[in-house]
Amino acid sequence: MVYFVGAGPGAEDLITVRGLRLLEQADQVIYAGSLVNPGLLSSCRPECRILDSARMTLEEVIAAIAAQEETGGMTVRLHTGDPSLYGAIREQIRELEKRKIAWEICPGVSSFSGAAAALGVEYTLPGISQSLIITRMAGRTAVPEKEGIAALSAHQASMAIFLSASLTGRLQEELLKGGWKPETAAAIVYKATWPDEKTVLCMVGTLHETAEREGIWRTALILIGDVLSDGGFLRSRLYDPAFTTGFRRAVSREDET
Ligand code: SAH
Repeated sequence: MVYFVGAGPGAEDLITVRGLRLLEQADQVIYAGSLVNPGLLSSCRPECRILDSARMTLEEVIAAIAAQEETGGMTVRLHTGDPSLYGAIREQIRELEKRKIAWEICPGVSSFSGAAAALGVEYTLPGISQSLIITRMAGRTAVPEKEGIAALSAHQASMAIFLSASLTGRLQEELLKGGWKPETAAAIVYKATWPDEKTVLCMVGTLHETAEREGIWRTALILIGDVLSDGGFLRSRLYDPAFTTGFRRAVSREDET
């Protein structure tokens, strides 16, 4: 059995309870060494076999899992954040299915949640944005044309941009081309929830110079949108006395739009 476990964004205690229990039981852990906090591995049993996937190919990862399966052992494949985002788990699952190896996913706290917590922001403010676009710049992995940063920027929805901290020059150009104003609020969050976390607020028009000045070029999220600047938003309907919810009746008028 293989469990794809989300390790969370960095802080050791941001793994889920279920994920931690699986780590404690594992016969083998294959962890993404470049981004997973190695402190999590102290929860493993002393006899647990620990491999760092940063130095392994897909074929080597699958071979290590298959070898463990033959002895009836359980493998935890530990991915940073939540495995469903840029985790490259589908290609592993395809190989496991070919070999009839059972698997399951244990979700994790993604770094976009860790980054919002670090900044103390809410991505969805009434009257400003009710959507969050999770995307990346094209790098070695291509991004479909219709999902380019400029095309997505046209929505003026909150954006969390992964895997792009080394591409801020082009990113800034694309954001401006897509219609964001140079003075729109932006943030760079480096190693959210790690002890050396760093958050820097800037504007779309100063994104590149800010990243250069701060020397941030990896393990960072770039956040964009008016939700990052305070003021101007409307109060939510959920806690409005005039609004009936499944748990509470309206004090006065009923309005569920
Ligand atoms: N599955 C992960 C993302 C893996 S892709 C998740 O859900 O968060 C790796 C990218 O995630 C990095 O390039 C960076 O953009 C982002 N990232 C991962 N951990 C981060 C952290 N603690 N702080 C800021 N960005 C992080």
